[in-house]
Amino acid sequence: MRTMLLGGPGSGKGTQGQRLARHYGVPHIASGDLLRAEVRAGTDLGRQVAGCLDAGRLVPDELISDLMLPAVLSAAEAGGYILDGFPRSVAQAVSADAALAESGAGLQSVLFLAVAEQELVRRLLERAESAGRSDDTAEVIADRLRVFEAETRPLIEHYRAQRLLIEMAADQPADRVTEAILAALEARDGK
Ligand code: ADP
Repeated sequence: MRTMLLGGPGSGKGTQGQRLARHYGVPHIASGDLLRAEVRAGTDLGRQVAGCLDAGRLVPDELISDLMLPAVLSAAEAGGYILDGFPRSVAQAVSADAALAESGAGLQSVLFLAVAEQELVRRLLERAESAGRSDDTAEVIADRLRVFEAETRPLIEHYRAQRLLIEMAADQPADRVTEAILAALEARDGK
């Protein structure tokens, strides 16, 4: 299983990613989680990216590729991966597609979690109260949504053109979304 979750902030990539990882027995590799771990550990990389995370801006492509590609390649060798948050721009996708294809580790599907913007904002503000993530403030949420629209949404067409895209209605309860994803992946594998 080599798949990726694509969607706006608050679309449920983290929740679904963890569930799919458990179901398929492969790692959930989430760029935001790895970046936040670097910041917490106070590494050089963490110091370089902290400002971007707090502002909701994308960290530079080279830094994120250097962090993610080795993890993705070794997971692919061990049986697969559920990617979450990477690639996040067409430039990242073009270079990741090439690097992964070279090792026979390319994406087999891309799950787009479609959620209306109003609902994304509602979920993120709700999470802000419980989780306390530094980028879950009204102002930074607005910036993250803008970055998603400008940089990440074009990936939908990028992967549709490669016939990898599976679009899911993700503005329903998490369990229903999981069921729909599993059904879609099974239908696809059965083809
Ligand atoms: P969300 O999708 O809910 O906004 P993430 O945890 O996926 O949250 O990402 C948090 C932050 O980490 C982003 O706003 C960005 O600063 C940084 N980030 C994560 N993935 C990438 C990436 N592929 N490229 C550049 N920056 C990234």
